[in-house]
Amino acid sequence: MKKYDDVVVGSGVSGLAMTLFLAMNGRRVLLLEKNHRIGGSLSVFTRDGVPFDTGFHFTGGLQKGGLLYEMLSALGIYDSIEPVFLPEDNANSFFLESENRLYKIPYGFPGLRERLKGYFPSEAAAIDKYFDKVIQVCAQTPSMNLRNPAMNQGHIDEDFMTLDEVLNGLTGNKVLKALLSGFAMCYGVKPQEITFANHSRICLGLYESVARIHGGGNALIEAFQKRFQDFDIEVSCGTTIAEMADIRDNRVGRFILNTGEEIECENCVFTIHPKEILKLIPEGVLSKAFISRVSSFEASTGFFALFATLDPGCGDEGIDNSIVSIFPHTDINQILDPGYEGLGALVLLRSVEEVNGTRKHIINILETSFFEHVEVWKDTRRGLRPQAYLDYKLQRIESIRERIFSVLPKYRDCLRVVDAASVLTFRDYLHSPDGSAYGIKQKVGQYNLFGKLPLRNVFAAGQSSLLPGIIGAMMSSFFVGRSIIKEEKYAGFVGRHL
Ligand SMILES: Cc1cc2nc3c(=O)[nH]c(=O)nc-3n(C[C@H](O)[C@H](O)[C@H](O)COP(=O)(O)OP(=O)(O)OC[C@H]3O[C@@H](n4cnc5c(N)ncnc54)[C@H](O)[C@@H]3O)c2cc1C
Repeated sequence: MKKYDDVVVGSGVSGLAMTLFLAMNGRRVLLLEKNHRIGGSLSVFTRDGVPFDTGFHFTGGLQKGGLLYEMLSALGIYDSIEPVFLPEDNANSFFLESENRLYKIPYGFPGLRERLKGYFPSEAAAIDKYFDKVIQVCAQTPSMNLRNPAMNQGHIDEDFMTLDEVLNGLTGNKVLKALLSGFAMCYGVKPQEITFANHSRICLGLYESVARIHGGGNALIEAFQKRFQDFDIEVSCGTTIAEMADIRDNRVGRFILNTGEEIECENCVFTIHPKEILKLIPEGVLSKAFISRVSSFEASTGFFALFATLDPGCGDEGIDNSIVSIFPHTDINQILDPGYEGLGALVLLRSVEEVNGTRKHIINILETSFFEHVEVWKDTRRGLRPQAYLDYKLQRIESIRERIFSVLPKYRDCLRVVDAASVLTFRDYLHSPDGSAYGIKQKVGQYNLFGKLPLRNVFAAGQSSLLPGIIGAMMSSFFVGRSIIKEEKYAGFVGRHL
């Protein structure tokens, strides 16, 4: 039986960060990934040499001193990637179809406050209070400060109130509320369900700066792979844990892999969907209350994705990288309801990559979508789906194209869709039960699966445990990793690397 200090299950950004963090702290680590290659949502695919991101397009926090900058620097990754900051003034735009109006949302707090006050002069006080509160929440969150040795999650009052409650207390202006809730598309939960604290923690980075990474998620995967070579890390793809055996005193003695191999380890950290973790823990080990808690977790929104290119000279000259969100109306709660039958939100992500010496304009288009939309085909698999599913995809592609052309007519003659993915595609590529974009819904009053589980040498991290997005997923790994190596060693790590 092979022995490791730690086994990490799942190689998305959270598993990659977890593995490297533990190895950098002197531990012998094995990383297991069910797919034939590592990267999870960071993966990129190509068509005719053009790269398309699947689950990572842009992020906040990459500016010097930002949380992602700090985490990547601590892991020795930052110098291997090339951030591409979106133009401050043109990074984000929200088009409200019901108002027939485009709102440009810059990043950088002073410009952001000023722009919104320009749009809503009578709401100046509400705007200031909102941003002050976002900053205050993040300053009070221990896990957002990597130098903080405190190991508790440090819940604050805003962890027990929803975004809607806070916004309703500040303003009655529906358009302003929609714009301040618009980044809900970056975590996929209704404003009436997400806590104000988690909304703030996710949005802070996006209010400070917005960047993509040159080469997309692949650049991050490659940077991790390069670092792995320095630390003798073992990676096994096409591999997962099939069974946990010899459980005594709530401790797993042996982990049996799908390959038949058996391993022993001090800690096993799952960075996969909580419902997938539940499936692996033998019956009788967990309490009914625990099982019903995990079973009750709901899915965050998913996306129907179009992967497209823009012909050279097609609109927005000079803006190579930008994000435009199109909302049918101001009711974000309705848009994020799986039962809602109206138009969803669209997010258009523009980027440029060099392909064989030519600049290619790429546009990824995401439309909110839910498992309910494709449930009828849930028992089908990639490449073997029936005609009715293919018709559904074609019909959805066409309706998204027409909607984009009605808002941005200049794209009619130059937008070329090369592929599309439904929630089922995401489910099957990422081995998540419902194909949601951000794992489980982060709901007020809910206790996620995070940190040590009822089995003493089994831990949960990843986007469903703390916060979604690549920052949230990595934060969970730093948090769990810190509890494994313990405070003193962590202090040494911070001293050496930050
Ligand atoms: C369409 C889309 C767009 C997005 N856009 C952005 C964005 O622009 N910016 C951003 O910050 N976030 C974005 N996100 C969210 C972001 O991708 C995730 O929050 C984050 O990458 C999740 O990382 P993770 O490591 O927790 O999980 P994942 O990336 O899902 O990785 C989990 C890994 O575990 C593997 N796995 C599953 N089950 C098993 C098993 N039993 N054994 C072994 N391995 C297993 C999976 O194959 C996968 O590789 C987007 C997501 C989607 C779907």
